[in-house]
Amino acid sequence: MSKRAIDTKLIHGSAKARRVHGAVVTPIFQTAMFEYAGEAIGHDLKYLRLNNSPNHLALHDKLAAIENAEASLVAASGMAAIATALSTFLGAGDRLLAQNVLYGGTRSFILEDLPKMGVGCDFFDGGDPASWPALLRPETKVIYAEAATNPTLRVADHRAIAAFARDHGLIAMIDNTFASPVNFRPLELGYDLSLHSATKYLNGHSDLIAGVIAGRLDLVQEATHKLNRWGGSLDPHACFLLDRGLKTLALRVHRQNETAVKLAQFLAAHPAVAKVNYPGLADHPDHRRAAELFDGFGGMLSFEVKGGPDAPERLIQACKLIIYTFSLGGVETLMIQPARTSHINMSPEERLEAGIPDNLIRVSVGLESADDLIADLSQAFDASAD
Ligand code: PLP
Repeated sequence: MSKRAIDTKLIHGSAKARRVHGAVVTPIFQTAMFEYAGEAIGHDLKYLRLNNSPNHLALHDKLAAIENAEASLVAASGMAAIATALSTFLGAGDRLLAQNVLYGGTRSFILEDLPKMGVGCDFFDGGDPASWPALLRPETKVIYAEAATNPTLRVADHRAIAAFARDHGLIAMIDNTFASPVNFRPLELGYDLSLHSATKYLNGHSDLIAGVIAGRLDLVQEATHKLNRWGGSLDPHACFLLDRGLKTLALRVHRQNETAVKLAQFLAAHPAVAKVNYPGLADHPDHRRAAELFDGFGGMLSFEVKGGPDAPERLIQACKLIIYTFSLGGVETLMIQPARTSHINMSPEERLEAGIPDNLIRVSVGLESADDLIADLSQAFDASAD
């Protein structure tokens, strides 16, 4: 484990990292295979699908260093990382204990793909540890949570989840995409694997798709062999871009934390807003837990807009600077209406139970000036008023 600060590790990797031929920036090794060098094990042959080019190795070092992990693996997408991690450690007859609010792609994988592999699932409330023991079965092997829920930004009792996993011999996995390792390093609490959609904050420039599995060496090695067979490796050019994006992660996330607080405060005081979900606000139900666990409250927030059913759409359409689209974690500020996009596959009743009414708008805060963003929202509220 390196003692370097995360800002330094994002630039240089761990203390063990070596520059390739002295190159200050790791060049793109655009070759599918490398000369045979006497490797005795198939997984060690240098071949792009086996995730072991110099670009992969440089990223693995850096990603492990910033999560304080023993090892890491980069994958072709966040979903490739999540599907690989879950299917490596769950087989026919096993059960998963998963948080009851999850990213839609993960939820679909759990509900549609895992059952075909003979894996069942039970869902737990991240804020209610007393209810977890009743959900445990002898077949339960893995517990899975998200750093903060999408789009309501609820923060589970991660310390209790890691302890519960330890006490019951479960592998504890977390999707740390929303927090990023700048704000939260779950392995320090005792999680075994931290997963990311590197498409979001880690790359930060909305120009590639990638994923990460970081954590215990033995588990990452097993997951690597699974990914090697399934073939979800990242291409060298995307590795290069991700490595470049990572260098500014700390700067970006610090700024996004600051701007998100300002936007949340502006929205909370606006007469056209019924409710704001941001863990940095004192009235958020998980504010104290987030303050204890996280180094920053993050760049994601959501709010309920007053008015008729068309009010959210009118407001988003009236924005001139903020872009109307899904995904998150980039330099551009984005807004969506989850009920019409990311959570469209849930029934209205399921959405309401999950705290996702139709008038909810989710914001991914970018790097524009906070004043400009507030001015854009302000004019959009005026322009879209009934
Ligand atoms: N995890 C979270 C929290 C996400 O928001 C997403 C995508 O939106 C994913 C995982 C999946 O990542 P990817 O699109 O890189 O496969």
